[in-house]
Amino acid sequence: MEPLPYVSTTNACKLCGPLGACLAFRGVEGAVPMLHGSQGCATYMRRYIISHFREPMDIASSALGEKHAVYGGGANLKQGLKNVMTKFGARLIGIATTCLTETIGEDVPMIVEEFRREIRRKGGEEPPAFVSVRTPSYSGTHMEGFHGAVRAVVEQLAGEGHAARMLNLLPGFLSPEDLRHLKEILAAFRCAATILPDISMTLDGPALDDYPKIPGGGTPIEDIWRMGGAGATFELGRTLHGDPQSTGKLLKERFEVALHSMGVPIGLRETDTFFGALEQLTGMERSPRFAMERGRLVDSYVDAHKYLFGKRAVVYGEEDLAVGLTAFLAEVGITPVLCATGGRSGRFRSAVEQVTADILPEAPAVGEGMDFRQIEEQAEILSPDIMIGHSKGYSIARKLGIPLVRVGFPIHDRFGGQRTLHVGYRGTQSLLDRIVNGLIEGNQNNSPVGYGYM
Ligand code: SF4
Repeated sequence: MEPLPYVSTTNACKLCGPLGACLAFRGVEGAVPMLHGSQGCATYMRRYIISHFREPMDIASSALGEKHAVYGGGANLKQGLKNVMTKFGARLIGIATTCLTETIGEDVPMIVEEFRREIRRKGGEEPPAFVSVRTPSYSGTHMEGFHGAVRAVVEQLAGEGHAARMLNLLPGFLSPEDLRHLKEILAAFRCAATILPDISMTLDGPALDDYPKIPGGGTPIEDIWRMGGAGATFELGRTLHGDPQSTGKLLKERFEVALHSMGVPIGLRETDTFFGALEQLTGMERSPRFAMERGRLVDSYVDAHKYLFGKRAVVYGEEDLAVGLTAFLAEVGITPVLCATGGRSGRFRSAVEQVTADILPEAPAVGEGMDFRQIEEQAEILSPDIMIGHSKGYSIARKLGIPLVRVGFPIHDRFGGQRTLHVGYRGTQSLLDRIVNGLIEGNQNNSPVGYGYM
């Protein structure tokens, strides 16, 4: 794609690195995410996360001010850790750096180690686990922060263990509903798995009489300790395959856990790959329930074809989700005319090409490191019939007068973003229905007569 004649970012198609890290830390049992930086960063992230998940979200902060930019923030970080230990009783404190602390070059692991030694010297209680990750937001996205935090948890906590679970599942950033569905599938295969991170409860729990300081749920720390003893790791996300820093690769290199890399299971083919891998791992066939869901999905592909064939879509968002959506759209007859992401992994284009190679006559246009101004300019040229992505694309869809099917994160202008199901045959079915209905509704809205078959 041709470079555009300006350099500033206008409405980024990505979020901030430590925000992704906080989401990942929130998926560990008993964990409290903490930012080493100014309070404003934590406030922004809390607000963003709460308006999608509609759950309380504590993010602690070392609350640096101007003078710490000159003299360093080590003392504040230690005080902040003390406060979190006293106030929350956390089992794990996940510390992410912000732009400020990365710019001044804070050595967080060294400060944390010093803090741990000080506690022991004073004969205090054994401190919780501390996991730190570097998340300079000026050079990365929320997904890099997310994956970096998952890797840091494994790197700093995992061991071999004896009572190993059969499977490590690294799902990437999926919705709580997605994770619940994946658990249902694993249970049907009687497959004991460590899912890291697991935000299915921590970011979508039940109403309670008393507000818990730390929500229930999340990946048990004891399970993380034993991840090196698992029989296999499934790592979801095609752009992670070529990433030398992926957590799956770390588990393979350090503990020789067999790694199965696959796409996010959206669409028939990617979901078949996921089920096929589970069948191979467990030696069991899928239950009739899932075979029936697959059969219904195929039937609905046939039924939907007249609405979808030849339609043009702009897909945008997190790289691996956008690749999964592209794989799905191509197989139902929609042409993805632009696949856009704010990420710059360098692996997005090849992943899009892989999932469309034997279906589409030519690969879709791909944009890495894009902002919404660039997406808008491209969309105006490409004349799509539909946009598929999160809420930040709303103004473009409105301007173009086309439907927007909301998926991924953040979904701020609709209710239930955390309960959006994207994965498996059932998630694909739900996406298909929403896309077909979005197109029908768009036609009705744009038609002078609307619809008369009542
Ligand atoms: S981009 Fe940097 S300054 Fe802005 S909220 Fe994120 S960490 Fe803080």
